[in-house]
Amino acid sequence: MMGIIRGSMRLHKHITDRSRRRFIKNGATIAAATAAAPLMDYFPVSQPVQSVTTRINGIQVGAVSFVDEGIENVLDILQKRGEINSIFLTTFTYGRGLSGRQIPGELFPDHGSPVSDEKSFHGGNYATPHPEFYRNTLLKETRAPEHGNLDIVASVLPAARKRGMKLFCSVEDVWREDIPGVSDCAEIDLLGQKKRTLCLFNPNVRAFWTGLVTDLCTSYDIDGILFFNERNGSLISALGASHSQNIVSSGVTCFCDHHQKAAKEHGIDFDRAKQGYQMLDQFIQASLNGQRPADGYYVEFSGFCRNGPKLLRGIKFLILGNTRYLRRFMLLLKQSDLT
Ligand SMILES: [Zn+2]
Repeated sequence: MMGIIRGSMRLHKHITDRSRRRFIKNGATIAAATAAAPLMDYFPVSQPVQSVTTRINGIQVGAVSFVDEGIENVLDILQKRGEINSIFLTTFTYGRGLSGRQIPGELFPDHGSPVSDEKSFHGGNYATPHPEFYRNTLLKETRAPEHGNLDIVASVLPAARKRGMKLFCSVEDVWREDIPGVSDCAEIDLLGQKKRTLCLFNPNVRAFWTGLVTDLCTSYDIDGILFFNERNGSLISALGASHSQNIVSSGVTCFCDHHQKAAKEHGIDFDRAKQGYQMLDQFIQASLNGQRPADGYYVEFSGFCRNGPKLLRGIKFLILGNTRYLRRFMLLLKQSDLT
């Protein structure tokens, strides 16, 4: 899921916390879309054409592009050749997809460095993490190291403003395992193994995302945040029904202590939900081994869902982990008290 928080987030250091909160409450408006929807879905062709001055014509750019080719030069190209008026600046991620150079194996473009950063790439927060926003989380050390002391938001923002361009901070829920605190926040799969994704029921993870977006919105004069949380639902994950994953039905998440506690709070029997996924795992593994049910896979699976309340509870519960929190995450930004 990704969301765009749009609003006039003009903040200066002299304003008080109270006025800052009131400002965010009054200023932030939120629009959400599914991860699969391209940005232009916000402007379907059937929609009346908006004036050029209000329509967003944006592009995602990582810090390395500005480092390689120069801030003014990159903005020049985007503005003059692409009529870009909004920069979605990759500000936080540990994934190369949004912030690295060319994808390995693909041809480099005719500008920028032709050297792959596959080995030197690290990722993290390309702005400056201000410690006061991360007091309530183990995830404190996230500064991206590859560009030294460069603060990409502080550097690009004045240049973009000068040109009348908007700047949105792009924040992606992708992590690496060697970051301090990540291991304690990892999701747990059906077999009890830690995954590379972080549990959204873990209070450290919630405090981190809340701290990060609050930090960005209060420390910089940005126009909003683009939040990427590209996760499949638990049933799709178990079935491997995605173009980009293998079928690992036991890799479903999350069965950590925080999820167990949350299940109880939502009136869901955690153990029965887990049993439901274990039944699904057995069905999928048997299918992968060629053990065709007597009535065929579809009939078996249909009946399994109809007569498998344990599974349905489990599906509902694990989806809750993502959707409930993401909704809360966005609503937090509309509330006056972000702490
Ligand atoms: Zn969990």
